[in-house]
Amino acid sequence: MDPALDVIVVGGGLAGLTAARELGRRGRHVLLLEARERLGGRTWVSSFAGVDVEMGGAFVHWSQPHLWAEVTRYGLGIVELPEAERAFLRTDDGIEEIDPDAFIDLAGGFERLCAGTEAYLAEPMSIPEGPDAVDADLATTAERIAALDLDPRRRDLLDALCAALSSAPNDRVGFLTIARSFALAGFVGKMLFDTNGRWVLEGGTATLVDAIRRDLRADVRLGTRVEEITQDETSVTVRTTDGAHVAPAAIVALPVNALGAVRFDPSLSEPKREAAEEGLVSLGVKVWAKLAGGIPSMFGAAPDRFPLSFVETVGPTPDGGSVVLGFGPSAEALSPDDPEPVAGAIEELLPGARVEEVGGHDWVRDPLAGETWASYGPGRSLRWLPELERREGRVAFAGGDFARGWGSYMDGAIETGLRAGREIEAVLS
Ligand SMILES: Cc1cc2nc3c(=O)[nH]c(=O)nc-3n(C[C@H](O)[C@H](O)[C@H](O)COP(=O)(O)OP(=O)(O)OC[C@H]3O[C@@H](n4cnc5c(N)ncnc54)[C@H](O)[C@@H]3O)c2cc1C
Repeated sequence: MDPALDVIVVGGGLAGLTAARELGRRGRHVLLLEARERLGGRTWVSSFAGVDVEMGGAFVHWSQPHLWAEVTRYGLGIVELPEAERAFLRTDDGIEEIDPDAFIDLAGGFERLCAGTEAYLAEPMSIPEGPDAVDADLATTAERIAALDLDPRRRDLLDALCAALSSAPNDRVGFLTIARSFALAGFVGKMLFDTNGRWVLEGGTATLVDAIRRDLRADVRLGTRVEEITQDETSVTVRTTDGAHVAPAAIVALPVNALGAVRFDPSLSEPKREAAEEGLVSLGVKVWAKLAGGIPSMFGAAPDRFPLSFVETVGPTPDGGSVVLGFGPSAEALSPDDPEPVAGAIEELLPGARVEEVGGHDWVRDPLAGETWASYGPGRSLRWLPELERREGRVAFAGGDFARGWGSYMDGAIETGLRAGREIEAVLS
């Protein structure tokens, strides 16, 4: 055991970074191991068509308590996205222009879909309990949408929004995933749009990752993939592609869908193993495209039987084109690595648009992620959430995928990093 080392943090996303920062600030000697050649994990600002874009997490809101504490702490700014002038809905009958204010109507539809959630999600920063929560977990979002008496256009719009929120087709997602987002948005449909798509960090998430990195008192090793974690009564050994490290404790801050690539001895608890093997169902895609210039700001939506659920123009490129952001329910059906189908899907949703360039990162095929942002299959939230966060001996677990509050958001990653740091501090002292 390296006598100077107190804790090894595995994974340099926001969860691991937060845990490492907290322990370092308490005077603990921290080693942070990250497989990529950069920090930030599923937050990643990259260049596309001459502008900086977010390949992963982007949208923030002041109702996200842990994220907002970081905004205050580091003096970060936020920027509002422009509102669309025109809106389109793709249905089985073709593309139809809709009133951009259709969202106000949609907010009402969302409130109907989530009617009754206050009964079991009155405290949305904790794991819900009781028969209504169990029912919501077991039902799929598709079943809950189908049970509403909605005209086909409203149903398609609601279907599109839910698929975009879940990064998955609605029949694969336990409704509790959607219900939790609604509860966190204060049980107000309109707020859901604000918390999920209106504001981004000025300068992007790189400003937050850089601020935390500057604040780190830790030995950071990039390009170091962890392959095995063993523990006994006194220490944890972490074997990497670059050799082994031993410390009194460790924090594993990995996506659930990347956890299975690490061997644990003793093996993980049965529910953690099951979650790692079966995986989360958020296997969707976020794409970027550049459109030829001269089109108004607009958005297009389509139910989850189409390859993209939601597309919107977000700003200009330096040469007069427009940048478009899109979300689809399946990276298998539509990958950013395959530009032609992406271009076709965007042009189908935004009449008059001509795609010149396509970008994005396929997080599902990326073995260090294996998923986008966490959505749980039916019955899986309540079975796995309490277990995924549970410390096992000298190893604590962090990750936005299984936060108590804003799970699947950046806020949740920070929340769990704080919690895991606190747990390991208790183990060490
Ligand atoms: C496309 C997309 C859009 C999103 N949009 C939003 C949004 O708008 N707003 C929002 O709040 N959230 C959003 N999210 C979710 C948010 O980005 C994540 O919840 C959050 O960043 C997760 O942080 P984390 O630290 O838990 O995991 P990660 O960021 O995934 O960090 C885990 C780290 O572990 C590393 N790693 C994996 N395996 C190993 C290994 N074996 N050894 C060593 N290192 C390893 C990875 O490289 C990674 O750096 C989005 C995510 C995606 C992918």
